[in-house]
Amino acid sequence: MRLQSYRFRLVIYMFLLIGFLSATVIYSYGYASRIIHQAADGHLDRLVQLLDAHLNQERNELQRYATLVSQDLRLKEYMYVITEVGGDSKPLDTLYEREFGWLPIDQRLILSMDGKVVAGTDNSQLAREVQTFIESHRRGIFYHQDEHGLEVVSVSPIRYRETTLGFVAVSRNLNDEWFESSRRASGGDFFLVQNGQVVKSTLPDTQNFQIYEDNNSLIADSVLFRISKIDLPGNRSLEQDIWFGFSEDQSINELERQHNVMLALVSSGVAGILLIGLLFIRNFNGPLNRIKDLTSKVAEGELPSMNKHRVSNEFDELSNHFADMLHALREQKVEIDIAQKKLQQIAITDSMTGLYNRRYLDEIFPKLVAQTEREGLAIHVIIFDLDHFKQINDQYGHMAGDQCLVTFSNYLKDKCRVSDYLFRLGGEEFLILSINKNIMEAASFADKLRAGIETIRVAFEDTLISMTVSGGISPAIKDGSIEKTLEQVLSRADRALYKAKSIGRNRVCIMNPADNNENLIEPASRYCQS
Ligand code: GH3
Ligand code: MG
Ligand code: MG
Repeated sequence: MRLQSYRFRLVIYMFLLIGFLSATVIYSYGYASRIIHQAADGHLDRLVQLLDAHLNQERNELQRYATLVSQDLRLKEYMYVITEVGGDSKPLDTLYEREFGWLPIDQRLILSMDGKVVAGTDNSQLAREVQTFIESHRRGIFYHQDEHGLEVVSVSPIRYRETTLGFVAVSRNLNDEWFESSRRASGGDFFLVQNGQVVKSTLPDTQNFQIYEDNNSLIADSVLFRISKIDLPGNRSLEQDIWFGFSEDQSINELERQHNVMLALVSSGVAGILLIGLLFIRNFNGPLNRIKDLTSKVAEGELPSMNKHRVSNEFDELSNHFADMLHALREQKVEIDIAQKKLQQIAITDSMTGLYNRRYLDEIFPKLVAQTEREGLAIHVIIFDLDHFKQINDQYGHMAGDQCLVTFSNYLKDKCRVSDYLFRLGGEEFLILSINKNIMEAASFADKLRAGIETIRVAFEDTLISMTVSGGISPAIKDGSIEKTLEQVLSRADRALYKAKSIGRNRVCIMNPADNNENLIEPASRYCQS
């Protein structure tokens, strides 16, 4: 395929188009995936906000419970008695149970100022945590973890008569129920993570799955989760963290759908481009190749025939026009050939007699010599000149002379063989190129012609005109080899003719190139021989 060819260009255009299409699709795919990821990020942000609000609400509620308990007057009085007077703490416990047993909390503690648990759950670890917490905060929320699991703790001071008597701490365990209700409230999933591994989650069978904190993702059972760590206020070095997130299945599915759509677009686009390109090449190739082959033949001088085709495109049209053009050219060529043949004929023919002229003699002689040489024959030149033709002209007129010339020509045409060539050299002088075995055969043939013309009468007006001819013969051979120069042969035949004229006319003389003497021999036939 040449670089300049339209096929090569078409292939290049096709690949450029395919490249452009692929680039567009890759860009669109990248753009779509960015949008989808952004949407996923946005979705996660919204869920986290929702969750934050939910957790905050929960913490506020817990704080309200702690405050409610710490502000109960009877509880304060009991506390006063216990801490200031030194009474039994049992009635406080009963009061607590009776008044606040309904609260949706898991653990409750009442601590005195010296950190002693005066009522509530017997959880020394929680008590220590609360003790630590109240050293820096008087009220608030923190997260705590012990063998019961992770829990949120709210602390509120018990103040009585301007004095702080102790603290109320209430907690809620972040148990399965809590996770489940939070999952329902937020719409996402929760992962309790320790040392980077999931220890519990709202999803089944996700224990021991690894969290990738770098890109906030978790792959569980080949499902990718987009996750975010939950900020737990007051969280002091808990062993476990809570992560929240949602499956990326949906966005991945969306991306995959996008990907498939793009792939289908690219494949059909590429297939379409290739198909159209191939159809173009195939459709153009046929007529183009036909035209190409034909033009090269025309350039070589041929005018081949070309079938027309059903027109389906411009190339077919061009091809058909070309066929028309070739047809017209062939017709013109036939006319030109005929005209040329006529011209050639005119150029080599004497118009009055229809015999060949001197120009054709010059042309044909070398060819005939070559042909006879190949065939082992000899070519002989016979020149005839009408005797006393001037007298015929003078006596009967020029027209009569012309008629004699025509009659003599027709006589020669009639009597000569197909292989003989007849010429009118000019005036009343004629020449025959005759192929014979030897000069004697040629002389005999010439003498028969001479004798024949003697008997012919030319009817002109009321008169019958008779005429005689003299002839000179010479073979186109000299010294045993073929004579190729016409002038030499003509000159010898002329000399023989001159001899025939000079010794009385109405005879033929032969001139053998072996000697330069022309001899007239007059036995039965009237020809002379050297
Ligand atoms: P010879 O026997 O010696 O050949 O005598 P001749 O009279 O035939 O020869 P000459 O050369 O003296 O005369 C030839 C004449 O032929 C002269 C010319 O007027 C005549 N002639 C030449 N061409 C034509 C022609 O085309 N038509 C006619 N009617 N006469 C011609
Ligand atoms: Mg003459
Ligand atoms: Mg003459």
